Amino acid sequence: MPRSNAHATAGEEEYLQSLFWLHEAGLPLTAANLGRAMRLSAPTVSEMVGRLERDGYITRDGDRTIHFTDSGRADAQLIVSRHRLIERFLTDVVGVPWDDVHEEAERLEHAMTPRFEAYVRASVGDADTCPHGHPIRVGERIQGVPLADCEVGARITVLRLENEAEDLLHHLMSQRVHPGLGAVVTAKDTELITIAPQAGGEPTSLTISVAETVSVTAEPSPPPRTALPEQLVLGQGRYGR
Ligand SMILES: [Zn+2]
Repeated sequence: MPRSNAHATAGEEEYLQSLFWLHEAGLPLTAANLGRAMRLSAPTVSEMVGRLERDGYITRDGDRTIHFTDSGRADAQLIVSRHRLIERFLTDVVGVPWDDVHEEAERLEHAMTPRFEAYVRASVGDADTCPHGHPIRVGERIQGVPLADCEVGARITVLRLENEAEDLLHHLMSQRVHPGLGAVVTAKDTELITIAPQAGGEPTSLTISVAETVSVTAEPSPPPRTALPEQLVLGQGRYGR
């Protein structure tokens, strides 16, 4: 189907980013998974998926599985890479805290000319990832395991915060969990997992659903997997659909 729009709208770009994340993570591209990834309801997602199909970014199978069109994938890749680059620029150069940067980048990227983007690229040097651990050059994603799958006694290094929802990032920041953190799993039950930073300092506890969104490398390591919890329980109260 020919593309009817030269540029994705801001709303379409957010969906394309989340769809591309599902694709990178090897998860099925379905409206249900998109809803989980974006913390949005099924009707909201289904309307936008229809729009993306109409505008030629995606097609859908008989069983409703979503596929990128060639041009849709290329556009999504560009959008994702640019978003992660701006996030890195905003944290490293401008000094925006990493738990605030996702929303700021969303706004900034729509106002950026190619000329300014070249300056941004030069200013972050050879940074490989966004501040949440996602590769700027797509295709360079390192496979991880969910922190939630790790055993007591495992040594872990945080690789990536898979879900960049604002509340979740604020929560992880407040718990001092960030890419590059080295820690040991010291306790785990059906609700909570506790890790103690290798550098010392207070241990921190996360709910299992939050720990599912934190990808790590671990020793010993459970099988590789990217989790997509249906609902995020941050602590008290529930967050999500
Ligand atoms: Zn990011």
